Amino acid sequence: VKRAKNNNEIHVYEANEAQAARRLFSLETELRRAIENGQLTMAFQPLVDLQSGHVAGFEALTRWEQEEGGAVDASKFIAVAEESGLIVPLGRWALEEATRILAEWDRESGGALPLYMGVNVSPVQIARDDVVGLLSSALDRHGLAGERLTLELTESAIVRDPERAAKVLNGVKELNARIAMDDFGTGYTSLAYLQRLPIDILKVDRSFVSHMMTDRDSFAIIRAVLSLATALGMSTTAEGIETEDLARTLGYLGCSHGQGYYYAAPMSAEDALAYALSRSASST
Ligand code: C2E
Ligand code: MG
Ligand code: MG
Ligand code: MG
Repeated sequence: VKRAKNNNEIHVYEANEAQAARRLFSLETELRRAIENGQLTMAFQPLVDLQSGHVAGFEALTRWEQEEGGAVDASKFIAVAEESGLIVPLGRWALEEATRILAEWDRESGGALPLYMGVNVSPVQIARDDVVGLLSSALDRHGLAGERLTLELTESAIVRDPERAAKVLNGVKELNARIAMDDFGTGYTSLAYLQRLPIDILKVDRSFVSHMMTDRDSFAIIRAVLSLATALGMSTTAEGIETEDLARTLGYLGCSHGQGYYYAAPMSAEDALAYALSRSASST
């Protein structure tokens, strides 16, 4: 808090801070209630094979629509959830919901689509919850093979406690599920982690993708990351593809998958299945 010169200003600062704290607290209270009352929903965004144009899978993204005030940005309520510890029950719900829907898609499509599902896992979940145990029981409960699930982790999940992260990642691999490094390029992972940890997919952060056609450096970074990933035997997903030009260029550069508004925004489970059925290997 900056000290102001006169008393009036001090009061103003304190009032604003108290107000901000109250707003945050009420958001937390409302989020807790939304989780308890089952008011969160899941949206699904296609992950597209850039060579064939087919849908390979979806990323599950949690949505929260408040009764009054409309939708809250995921990045906002996820931050509140991480600070308050609510990410533990939220994350459990997300994993369960994503797995349940994937099994439902299998039934509805007669198992015709070997789609995979990407589920985001917070660093706080890695630190505090039994992610491997939860994944294992979700797979069992819904009768799904491990390879159908990909856990998306950010670099901070690893940097915080590399030893614990390594244990979790190895446990996930024992279940045959895959690991994606989310938002790659924005964190502080050393290349040693990439080499040492069982990471299957690098998701190149949207910030590099969206600038690559206009900024030489972003273009150079994308090329370097794609060739690094290939050399380490990982596949790659470009985030934030908003134009056909980007999709074509990234495919040409050897990026394996893409995600972005050019293909589709996140959508309901029902729309996602219809989207996948109309753009799968078996539909062409
Ligand atoms: P993320 O995991 O990197 O997810 C991708 C985000 O980029 C999503 O935002 C998606 O809607 C957005 N996006 C996709 N394509 C485009 C595009 O072409 N242009 C632009 N501008 N944006 C695009 P969303 O759904 O708002 O989620 C934001 C973040 O919140 C996610 O980033 C993830 O870190 C977090 N999140 C969402 N759901 C969950 C969850 O269930 N658990 C955890 N731990 N985190 C979650
Ligand atoms: Mg993600
Ligand atoms: Mg991401
Ligand atoms: Mg992101």
